[in-house]
Parts: sequence; C-alpha cells; structure tokens
Amino acid sequence: MTAAEGTRLEYATAPERLRPQIDASYGLFINGEFVEPASNASFVTTDPATGRKLAEVAQGDERDVDRAVQAAKAAGARWSRLKPSERAKYLFRLARRLQECSRELAVLETMDGGKPIRESRDVDLPLAAQHFFYHAGWADKLQFAFAGATPKPLGVCGQIIPWNFPLLMAAWKIAPALACGNTVVLKPAETTPLTALHLARIMQEIELPDGVVNIVTGAGNTGAAVVNHPGMKKIAFTGSTDVGRHIMHSLAARDIPLTLELGGKSPNIVFADASLDQAIEGVVSGIWFNQGHVCCAGSRLYVEECIAEEFIAALRERMARLRVGDPLDKNTDVGAINSAEQLERIEGLVSCGRDQGAVLHEINDDPLPSRGNWHRPCFFTGVEPSHTIAREEIFGPVLSVMTFRTPEEAIRRANSTPYGLAAGVWTDKGAKIFDIAARLEAGVVWCNTYNMFDASSPFGGTKASGFGREGGRHGLRAYVQLAEARS
Ligand code: NAP
Ligand code: MG
Repeated sequence: MTAAEGTRLEYATAPERLRPQIDASYGLFINGEFVEPASNASFVTTDPATGRKLAEVAQGDERDVDRAVQAAKAAGARWSRLKPSERAKYLFRLARRLQECSRELAVLETMDGGKPIRESRDVDLPLAAQHFFYHAGWADKLQFAFAGATPKPLGVCGQIIPWNFPLLMAAWKIAPALACGNTVVLKPAETTPLTALHLARIMQEIELPDGVVNIVTGAGNTGAAVVNHPGMKKIAFTGSTDVGRHIMHSLAARDIPLTLELGGKSPNIVFADASLDQAIEGVVSGIWFNQGHVCCAGSRLYVEECIAEEFIAALRERMARLRVGDPLDKNTDVGAINSAEQLERIEGLVSCGRDQGAVLHEINDDPLPSRGNWHRPCFFTGVEPSHTIAREEIFGPVLSVMTFRTPEEAIRRANSTPYGLAAGVWTDKGAKIFDIAARLEAGVVWCNTYNMFDASSPFGGTKASGFGREGGRHGLRAYVQLAEARS
C-alpha cells in the first residue's frame, strides 16, 4: 500500500438485522395465485455472497407460459376497459405498498443477487416505487401523451428481465404496461427471481385483478417460450446483446412491437477543466458500485492526457478505500458477483487484458470472504483500442483507462464501439458539454454526473445496445397502439 492509500478509515461492521421471510419453495404466479409448474420441476436460487441455497423456484415451460398467456388475455378484456382512473388506483396502491415493504424487499434483493444493501435500499427500491407512482399518474392522462392520436392497449406483453436490478426492472416493465391497459407475463432472471415473486404477493394483497400480472420463473428455455408464444402482442427484453439478437430473429416474421435494452461499453470522458474530485466519484460509482453489474456501467474511461497521471493516482487512492464484502453490511461498496459463471467470465476477461499487455491495478490487502463469488474492483492502464477489455462488455468491476489529447479524438474513440447505451462527459465548460454530448452515439449522456435515473426520463440505447425507451412519455409509446383521433 502506498502512503496515499494509507489513510483508510476503519469502521465497525454494520450488518442489516432485518431478515425477510423466505419460503422453502415458490410456485409460478398465474391468474392471481401461486401454482405448481406443469413439469413439477424446480431450480435453486442461492445467495451469491455465501453460496447458501435460499429457495426452490418453479421451472416454468411452454405449457405454463401458455396458461399465463390465457390468464393474461382473459384479464385483459376487463383491465383494458376499466376506467383509467381505477387502473391508476391499483398502481398507486402497488407503489405505496412497495414503499411500506421496501426495507424487507431491499434485504431480499441483496440476499438473492449480491448487491450492496446500500444500493438496493437507496436506489432500487425507491426507484421501483417511483416507477409505479409515475405511471399511476399517466394512467388517466394518456390522451395527453400522444397529441392528435388515441392510445389503445396492445394486449398481452411478454417481458424478460435480467439479474442486475431484478425488482427495479420488473417495475420498469410492469408499470407502463399496466398504466396503458395491457396485461403481463413476466419472466425474471434465473439467479434473482425472489423479489418479483414477493411483488406478486403484494399484488395479491392490494387485490390487483387476477391475471393482470403473471410471473413465470424458469431457467434454460422459459425466456424463449415467452418470446415464441403466439398470444404475445409485445415483447420487451433486457439482457445480453446475443440473446437480444436471437429474439429479433425469432420475431422476424411476426408483426409485434419489440423493445430491447442490451449491453454496453459506455465511455466516461474527463477533460482537464473538470472538477476532478467530482469526476473521480462519478467514475467510481459508474463502474465499481454494484460490482459493475450495470448495463450502462462507465467501463471505458478517457482522461485528457495532461491530467492522466494525477487522475489515475487519485483513482487508485479512491479504489483503495472501497469496501468489498458482505453485501448486507451497510458500509459495503462492492458486493458479491451474481453467479459463478459471471465471475468466471470476468476473470477470463481480466486475464485476457493482462495477456494482451495492459497493466492491471488492483488493491490486494483486503481479504475476501472465503465463500461466495467475489472480484476486487480494479482498473487497467496501457489499454490499446484493439484490446478485448476495451471492446467487450465485462459486466464486472473492471475499468479500462485510456487517454486523449483533443475533443475530436475523445469523441472518435468514445464512439468506436458497437454499443451505444450511455456516456459521461466531465467538464467545467457548458458549451463543450452541449457540443460533445450531441456528437456521442449513446442513448443517454450524463454531464458532470453518472448513473442518474428518474421515472420521467427515458432510458435506452442505440446501435448494438438495442432500441426503444423505458421511462417518461417515450416509454409509454412502447405499450400503446395509436389510432388517429376523429376530428
Ligand atoms: P442473458 O444471456 O441475456 O439471459 C437473460 C434472459 O434471457 C434469461 O432470463 C434467459 O431466460 C433469457 N433468454 C435466453 N435465451 C433466450 C431466447 N432465445 N429467447 C428469449 N429469452 C431468452 O443474460 P445472462 O446470462 O443473465 O447474462 C449474460 C450477459 O448479459 C452478462 O454478462 C451481461 O453482459 C449481459 N447482461 C446485460 C444486462 C443489461 O441490463 N443489459 C443485464 C444482465 C446481463 P432462460 O434461462 O429461460 O432462457
Ligand atoms: Mg440468487
């Protein structure tokens, strides 16, 4: 450890005491009740921080998806005709109940997925509730969202969500669909199904009409069964670019709307005139919090060459202060890697970075827990644009640091990726922000901040990061068909 890294404060541990009630097994949530899957098979979800089994979860297949679609279709006949202000009431109830249960759900999210409790408590849960509140507000005002056209529901929506923000992604998908009068068949990720199933319980409590939301868990081919079911009138997917491409092929001959939110390799560009302390915090939270398990993680850092040495030293010092470990400890910054497969993938890409000649910077003095999946936050310097770590999504706490000399070079290098999800620009000059942001090929550009989300602000990608927007008025568009209003 260098002198600069030696000022680390030691805190006492601050473990979360609340432990949610987790059942031994969970069925599928179809037509308002938990039911056994047709196959009677199940899979296990574990706590990635301990490797401990949390619960058995039902393995849904085509037959279950079909049951869920029939339930959603029947429910849709009533839900779509319900007075919009009545639909809004259900969404408000869901939002309020989510807030009331938020601590318990945050702990459950952290146990099932490995993310630090600070993040699930302060980001995932408040944002999930916000999405229901926000869309409850739209439910009876949809005619104002689309001037000159009358919005109509699409029908049954198939939605497939990932493991990095399990409950939040469920909220992002379910809230706009319901507000617009659609019904839903949701497929949670294999490693993190529990919060969606507890959300289903909340739906029972608030007496959401049966069949409006159905949740079919599964691992292996349940996602494909959702996409391929002929009763689906819309598909929304968040996950890897490869699976997104596959889904596009599967739907090529079907005229139904599709939205894809896929991977990223997002650049953070730091100019010499930026507030460097602020930029360091943005870069750190953009890649290392939530273990880099964020589709819009700022995994490529471009620093203006004249400040590179100073910036890298500050980055190293800040990295040394990060706490890796028990995600249920409120002091933890970097939790567990979501699965053994994901850890293996990250480790493979890190060794590839080393083999190709980049220099790895890692702080090694903190012992990692003996069980579970862990990866220390780290960064690479000496990265060439052709290196795999500069091109491929790592989806882990691994940052590639590169430099630039002119704004033109920064833009060219930032855009030289197949992806286009997000980007960050750090500078003191307003005019530079507008100029650079407009030329970056990314769905979202954050300026002097990073990873800021709001239900009213559309989020989504371009290029290989997908298409369609979630959140805001743009997000509603994905869940309605527009008929020309009669004059
Ligand atoms: P994934 O491979 O994209 O799988 C996500 C979901 O897609 C799973 O629930 C899976 O369900 C479903 N699926 C797989 N094949 C399908 C098909 N042909 N049709 C429809 N659905 C299908 O994600 P992963 O394995 O969890 O993670 C792998 C990589 O994805 C990560 O390393 C990361 O790069 C990326 N990722 C991106 C995001 C993001 O937010 N953009 C989030 C998480 C992961 P079944 O098991 O039932 O098939
Ligand atoms: Mg799990």
